[in-house]
Amino acid sequence: MNKPTKQALNEAPIGEKGLVFNEPLLFEMGSPGRIAYSLPKHDVPEVELEVILPVTEIRDAIEHFPELTELDVVRHFTRLSQWNFSVDTNFYPLGSCTMKYNPKVNNETASLSGFAQHHPYTPETLSQGSLQLMFELQEYLKEISGMQYVSLQPAAGAHGELAGMLMIHAYHSAQGRQRKKVILPDSAHGTNPATATLCGYSVVQIQSDERGLIDPKKLESIMDEETAAVMLTNPNTLGMFETDILKISDIVHEKGGLIYCDGANLNAVMGKTKIKDMGIDVLHFNLHKTFSTPHGGGGPGAGPVGIVSKLEPFLPKPTIEHKDGKYTLNHDRPNSIGKMKAFYGNFGILVRAYTYIRSLGPEGIKKAAEMAVLNANYIKASLSAHYHLPYKGPSLHECVFNDKHQLKNKVSTMDIAKMLIDYGFHPPTVYFPLIVKGALMIEPTETESKETLDAFIMAMKEIAALAETKPEVFYDSPQMPVVSRPDEISAARNPKLKWTPTNSELT
Ligand SMILES: *Cc1c(COP(=O)(O)O)cnc(C)c1O
Repeated sequence: MNKPTKQALNEAPIGEKGLVFNEPLLFEMGSPGRIAYSLPKHDVPEVELEVILPVTEIRDAIEHFPELTELDVVRHFTRLSQWNFSVDTNFYPLGSCTMKYNPKVNNETASLSGFAQHHPYTPETLSQGSLQLMFELQEYLKEISGMQYVSLQPAAGAHGELAGMLMIHAYHSAQGRQRKKVILPDSAHGTNPATATLCGYSVVQIQSDERGLIDPKKLESIMDEETAAVMLTNPNTLGMFETDILKISDIVHEKGGLIYCDGANLNAVMGKTKIKDMGIDVLHFNLHKTFSTPHGGGGPGAGPVGIVSKLEPFLPKPTIEHKDGKYTLNHDRPNSIGKMKAFYGNFGILVRAYTYIRSLGPEGIKKAAEMAVLNANYIKASLSAHYHLPYKGPSLHECVFNDKHQLKNKVSTMDIAKMLIDYGFHPPTVYFPLIVKGALMIEPTETESKETLDAFIMAMKEIAALAETKPEVFYDSPQMPVVSRPDEISAARNPKLKWTPTNSELT
């Protein structure tokens, strides 16, 4: 049988479309009176809502609110999930995101009822196992990074940055004089300037040099005693190691500043080198990148923050302590920046990271970093004759190309990204970092096999060849997914947030 074409599928009546479903909105489905649950008849007298609630708190009935059965809802969302791309379905080389495969054993342990059902108000004496897990995870993160203290509270990378920069702010306040500025390279992730601004600092940008790195001389010329911290990423967002990191940290420390390292890219260096040894004072980890937790799509995350001992008084509270064989929570921390998150952070994510670290062990962690770097360099070497590499220095866990060659035929990074979808691959990160015009940032991670990398490389080569010979085929790609090429500009400028059915849609 021939493979049906996309056009034939679109014209086929519903029910003959194989796995391509024409999924309506929930608002277009259902029938009045349908309900997703059934309860036994109640055995107490019925009371009008107005009797027990102030009328102002009772909302009016929502017009055309969908009424659906449980099965309607389950099928709707399951079908929508099948339109989505995931790490479990195919290669997902999104740079700076570390979309590695998440071993299912991590979910098994996080689902153990002793963890999953553990109420956060359970007394400490009955929570020793969970507290021990958190304490030991902190110890592992300290060992991996060299940092002297770790707090697991922050719920995301950006939240870890906030916790870290609040501690830096508290540190300078305790010195008696608050500083005003934070220096950031122009390759920084957008969350870095956002964090610095949120903490009340003005942001001073330092331009990367022709290597794509921070030039210590340039830094020396702008670093002063008004600068609270330098925030950097190492390896940086070009996937390159800041080779002058020791000079950089000396320059900052000499003027009484601190160095913040964005540790979202720890995948390249874990088990190989300790971030603290580079003179770093604060580091956040993205457990939902490096330490294998599913992420993307807004799922829960964890962004623990590690610090050097002079920042210890300011750690978020409570801290977890281990004394005389008992694990306790210490709330009595007068100089703490306070609580960063309800209870103790996203505990399920901590269980996953703990399981991941324990199942890999020190050798496995190191091997993962080595394989991540090898895979990125394999892609870089295989594609460098086909795509322009704006920065030629050695890469670690990711590599950044751009569309310079393809633009000659009016094929842009966005066109290349869309075409990759037709080849069955999630596009890499595009147009980031901002210092690379038309960036295509590819991070394969260590979990991909050579076969997968070769298939991706083959697709990228074919796409480069297509850009030469048939640039017009890019303009309506991708063809294969249910939604092909949405008008992103109209979607952003005129978002349609409210759906009002027309009469014909109601009948
Ligand atoms: C992902 C990422 C962040 C932010 O992490 P979130 O968990 O998304 O808040 C910060 N910096 C870099 C370099 C990142 O890749």
